[in-house]
Amino acid sequence: MADSMLALTYSRETDPWETTTGLRKSEVERPVLDESKDYHDRSNVLIQPMMTGFCGSDRGIWFRSAFKDMIFGSLDREKKSTRVIGHELLGKVVAVGTDAKRTYGIDVDDVVSTESHIVCGACYQCRIGDTHVCADDKIIGISQDGCFSELVKLPAKALWRTNLDKIRPEVAAVQEPFGNAVHACTKVNLRGKRVAIVGCGTIGLFAVAIARAMGANYVIGVEPMENHAEMARRLGADVVLTPEMSGKSHASDKELTDRIRKLTDGVGVDVALEMTGVNSSVNNALRCVRRGGDVILFGLKSGDAVIENFDRLIVDGISLHSVIGRRIFETWHITRHLLESRDPNIHDLVWEVILNRGEGTMVNFSDFEPAAFEKAIKTFPKVVIRHGV
Ligand SMILES: [Zn+2]
Ligand SMILES: [Zn+2]
Repeated sequence: MADSMLALTYSRETDPWETTTGLRKSEVERPVLDESKDYHDRSNVLIQPMMTGFCGSDRGIWFRSAFKDMIFGSLDREKKSTRVIGHELLGKVVAVGTDAKRTYGIDVDDVVSTESHIVCGACYQCRIGDTHVCADDKIIGISQDGCFSELVKLPAKALWRTNLDKIRPEVAAVQEPFGNAVHACTKVNLRGKRVAIVGCGTIGLFAVAIARAMGANYVIGVEPMENHAEMARRLGADVVLTPEMSGKSHASDKELTDRIRKLTDGVGVDVALEMTGVNSSVNNALRCVRRGGDVILFGLKSGDAVIENFDRLIVDGISLHSVIGRRIFETWHITRHLLESRDPNIHDLVWEVILNRGEGTMVNFSDFEPAAFEKAIKTFPKVVIRHGV
């Protein structure tokens, strides 16, 4: 088919949710801009992906543990069976609608990343400037087609121009998840504070480096996996502690929180960032924070959670904050400043520590093979797909 292209997809027809895993490389319809057929295309842009990041949420789709309802609901709405996955994008603009150029200044050959939440612009939250909690947003690669493909169509308003002279492409491709960590680290002021990062997965690792750059005075990582603990130390954690893995129990780890208290003169940390969503880890974060401290909740697990000693939250005046997505585009500006700066040099830390200088973390789109890909995503905190553009 001349009007088809290759993409990494989930299809509810060929890949039943309950009995399969992985993504499939398949032929899908090639997106086009046609303003005479669809007026939305006036403000749309066609982008050729150069590099795309594989996200924790993509892992949820790969292992069929998350996003089923959002994918199926949106496929119902579009009356189709196949979703192109992927939302962490660096790409080159190849075609622009009239308004995309006139209103947003986007032009052919621009290099862009994208905010993954396409916001409505009209709901209560959007109208008061809180677009990151839009009531009617769509997520690229989940509720509309994404960027693990040869071409992706996106609204100009979501795009973020990126200067490859200042940020290398592999790092530029992960600005969106990096931005999650920036959002978490800017929720409260970290300057001069003692901070615990509870869970050093991909976003937790980013957060270690960002907390340092934001002026945190002492950073304690909590991480069970030794390779991630080592990465956290290289990214700037003063100390990394191993939690007791309590399995399914929601209970906090007393020994761990006692150690954190000891490391902070018996006071507790000023701020705890909870980056796992695991119930026991949420309780560890609540328990290691000082009276009057802040707990930033980013980790996500569906279902109920148990909060230990709920009264302590009130009596000790602990503030809970939850973080979703990025503030659009405030967080993106801070992300750009942090990644373009070489003092501190978070840019090179991301490349050397999290992306392992590209060794094992880069997969060619043309060579995509599910078994090898699954091994890569199980081994490294971040895998980037190179699209050969
Ligand atoms: Zn993501
Ligand atoms: Zn909205």
